[in-house]
Amino acid sequence: MTAKEKTSEMTDPEIAVELSGVDKWFSILQVLHDVNLTVRRGEKVVVCGPSGSGKSTMIRCINYLERHQKGRIIVNGTELTDNRKIIDRVRQDVGMVFQNFNLYPHLTVLENCTLAPRWVKGVGRKDAEAVARAYLERVRIPDKADFYPSQLSGGQQQRAAIARSLCMNPKIMLFDEPTSALDPELVREVLDTMAQLASDGMTMVCVTHEMGFARQVADRVVFMDAGRIVETAPPEEFFSNPRESRTKAFLNQIL
Ligand code: ADP
Ligand code: MG
Repeated sequence: MTAKEKTSEMTDPEIAVELSGVDKWFSILQVLHDVNLTVRRGEKVVVCGPSGSGKSTMIRCINYLERHQKGRIIVNGTELTDNRKIIDRVRQDVGMVFQNFNLYPHLTVLENCTLAPRWVKGVGRKDAEAVARAYLERVRIPDKADFYPSQLSGGQQQRAAIARSLCMNPKIMLFDEPTSALDPELVREVLDTMAQLASDGMTMVCVTHEMGFARQVADRVVFMDAGRIVETAPPEEFFSNPRESRTKAFLNQIL
């Protein structure tokens, strides 16, 4: 590859996230092996695979919650390096929703939603609150703005967490098993919120075992096993005609 091609690849505005040749170790344990993944702008990628296969580690590397030791990760044209300014800039563009909501328990839902816009982006209180209320409306909990997280159901807390992320106006949303801590009857409302976000055009990388969601929303499904991406395919192909034996075994277990 020439230097010119390398530059244009790094700044291709159609590419939201690119991992190439990414390796990661936790001390002597290698948990990611030569991970290659390109996520185009507006694309929805679902990541699945057995527990311990490196799904969380991979998506946490995208906003540098974990650092990779080898390979390159480029987010919105910026390569992630150990540089505070770069990390902060990339994180402003990348929202993340975790399994356990991670709302601040001592702040109301509205305060959870306005904290980062106010103190990281310097948005004024009134403007931050107006934006927060609009997103709480969008995730259908406008009446919960002044409640504390403990006063909400799990599904409402997770929708509040999604609203909080959206308040930073991210270009990419990462979800790490956002429904797996929820009672079954609350899963639907969170998946519906995510599907709505997807149809609004958000670029999304979702670790989830909700295969109905994958079928409905994903452009591509990525299957990981033992720290490697084993198979990537559009959902119709992934579910009806998986190529790899490990994918077949996994699907047999969960479907
Ligand atoms: P998944 O999300 O697919 O269940 P993870 O990315 O959480 O997998 O974990 C991949 C591997 O990395 C596992 O072997 C796990 O035990 C290990 N691991 C994850 N986080 C850490 C950590 N902070 N320190 C050491 N090992 C870790
Ligand atoms: Mg995980």
